Amino acid sequence: MPETSPHANDTDQHLGAVETQTTLNAGTLELLHRAALSFTVSLDLREVIHSVLAEAQATLAAGSWSVWLLDEAGTTLTCWQAQGPSGDVLRGYRIALDRGVVGWAVRNNTRVYVQDLSSDPRRDDLISARAQMPAASLICCPLNIGSRHTGTVTTIGAISVVSDRVNGFDDDDVALVDVLSASAATAIYNARLYEQSQREVERRKLVEGALRQSEGQYRTLVETSPDSIFLLSLDGKILMCNHRTLALHGYERATDVLGKSFLSLVAPEIRAEAQDIFNRVFQGHTLRSQELTLVRSDGTPFADELGAALTANSCGEPAGIVAFARDISDRKEAEAAVRRHNLELRVLNDMATHISQSHDLKNLLENALDRTLDTLDIDTGWLVLFDPDRASPVSSEIEIRRGLLSKADIAERSDSLLHRLVERAYTTRQPVILRSVELFELYAGASAPCQVVAIPLVAQDQVVGAMAIAGLRHRHPRNISFRQVQLLAAIGHQISVAVETARLTREAAEVDMLRQLDQMRADLMASFSHDLRSPLGLIKMTCSTLLRDDIDLDPTTQKDFLSDIIAQTDRLSRLVDGILDLGKLGAGQLVLDSIPMDLGTLAQRLFDEAQQQIPSHQFTLDLPEDPLILIADSVRIDQVLHNLLDNAVKYSPGGGPIDIRGYRKRNKVLFSISDSGIGIPEDQLDLIFERFYRVKGEATEHISGTGLGLTTCRGIVEAHGGRIWATSALDVGSTFTFSLPAAPDVPEA
Ligand code: ADP
Repeated sequence: MPETSPHANDTDQHLGAVETQTTLNAGTLELLHRAALSFTVSLDLREVIHSVLAEAQATLAAGSWSVWLLDEAGTTLTCWQAQGPSGDVLRGYRIALDRGVVGWAVRNNTRVYVQDLSSDPRRDDLISARAQMPAASLICCPLNIGSRHTGTVTTIGAISVVSDRVNGFDDDDVALVDVLSASAATAIYNARLYEQSQREVERRKLVEGALRQSEGQYRTLVETSPDSIFLLSLDGKILMCNHRTLALHGYERATDVLGKSFLSLVAPEIRAEAQDIFNRVFQGHTLRSQELTLVRSDGTPFADELGAALTANSCGEPAGIVAFARDISDRKEAEAAVRRHNLELRVLNDMATHISQSHDLKNLLENALDRTLDTLDIDTGWLVLFDPDRASPVSSEIEIRRGLLSKADIAERSDSLLHRLVERAYTTRQPVILRSVELFELYAGASAPCQVVAIPLVAQDQVVGAMAIAGLRHRHPRNISFRQVQLLAAIGHQISVAVETARLTREAAEVDMLRQLDQMRADLMASFSHDLRSPLGLIKMTCSTLLRDDIDLDPTTQKDFLSDIIAQTDRLSRLVDGILDLGKLGAGQLVLDSIPMDLGTLAQRLFDEAQQQIPSHQFTLDLPEDPLILIADSVRIDQVLHNLLDNAVKYSPGGGPIDIRGYRKRNKVLFSISDSGIGIPEDQLDLIFERFYRVKGEATEHISGTGLGLTTCRGIVEAHGGRIWATSALDVGSTFTFSLPAAPDVPEA
């Protein structure tokens, strides 16, 4: 307990006043002095009040004393201590300031001495009733505290003493109560002040404790946070940061960072952007998740996600910015890896789709190499496909070069380097990686080193080729990562499969073609045998008939028989000629004996023969008056006419009209034969001119042929500089037309 009260000066002041204002006897003065001293022994309010009343009682035993104190709001008086018979009931009793003599004395800050309470209007019956004591006279003195500094007087309560007798006090008693009240006021005031300050100290201790606890919690939270947290001043300086901030940016001590601008944590190239973002936060915009590239103390950038908000001081004014940053490099890397992976899958898928559709091996490989280089973002590569029947292990069937590996760029030395590389890939069957190849090895005139990777192309356990790439783009070195080598190997695998597939397809096609050829030969033989056998049979039969002695043939019949034999012989020789011509036509060896001739005459002869020999059909002939003069080999052209007429008859088995027509159109002579036969499907109109091609179907099933007639016709017509074609409708009929250059008109002499 402190020995001097906080307001000792005020107490002295009041004691001084007491001495000058009163005329008390020495005994009473000493009593009062002792009382004043005893008040200051303790700063406990209850003890002080207790000692005040004890001293009061000792001084003036005739009355019952009570001490009333105003509450902090100044509206209620509470009886803190009371003595005498009613002490127990009055203690703790509260009255409003406007009640009773005590209320009046405090309200008016005036001591009251009432000699006869019964006639005093301020008397409060309730208090009296509660005190259960007939109060006849009363002294009530306000407890006043005056301040030397402000000159003001504050009433903090009152001391009252009552007597059960009218006129129970004299003037000395009044003076004594005055003086006692004055010193008690200071003691009570000080004790109360002390109690209040103690309470305030306690409260502050509690508040500080709570504050320390919550501060501790926040500190732990901030320090153990996996995110970087930092506080910025309004001018962007770092005021505080947690350990994570230091670790993230690679600083050892907080002093390395504190006081610096937050921009020192941001990658230099985006500082302007970062400043804009922070300006927006300064303007009150809360940043939730902003991706930003921050930088470590050694300058390495890393991806970060940032949040920031303005903080305010106790007056609600902006005080700074609290920001948190989360290292998202792992997430970014994972995202990039997924993207890369997707791209690689897409490339592989694209590649697989493309190469499975391509039939041309060279085209396939060119495309595959281009796509590979595109994907790896480099421009120099080499793809070689070994010759399956190779003499040396790596002699190539196909070789494709791109970028600086083209023959024009590459130095001779590097060519051998590439070959050595490919040989290594061939023997080891593994990717070969050369980390640092001087560019001059690859092309003349440069010396920066670059990486070169070669991978073997393995299909069906055979190394079918190799692919090599150099880490170059626009003549500048590029790193080739391990992942890219893996991708290259995967692409290589696809290419190998495609090469294998293409080769197998080619082999299968060859086998298929051979099979078809065999079939054609068989068909051809069957057809030839039929075509040869039928005229031969007829000739034999006619000759036998002519030679029989038992049959007497008249000269006309004999002549007819001999004509038949000639016709069949002609047919045979045409057939044989056709086969021989085919060989000549294919080899471009057809020799034409071209002279001016009239196509009309040939057409007329054909018509006459047909009418005579083919009764099953009705023939018409349509020719212009003028001859249709050509410069042509008449035997060959006649062969064409007969072929076309034979077909018209053959493929209209139901008979019907056959129209033969010759005409001239500008400088061309045209000839056509139309039938009303089975017709030809439109999609096969061109194919029928191909060697051995025959339309397959029910309608042609029983019609024999070699598939060579139209091929011969086309060969002959084209050899004359003309053109042949067919138009047709199924079950309606076909028209075959050829056009030849007309002989230039000879001016009349
Ligand atoms: P072929 O000996 O089979 O008749 P061609 O070369 O003369 O051989 O004719 C080829 C194919 O063209 C024939 O097999 C037939 O299917 C078709 N063709 C030719 N002429 C006609 C025609 N006038 N009417 C219908 N089909 C025809």
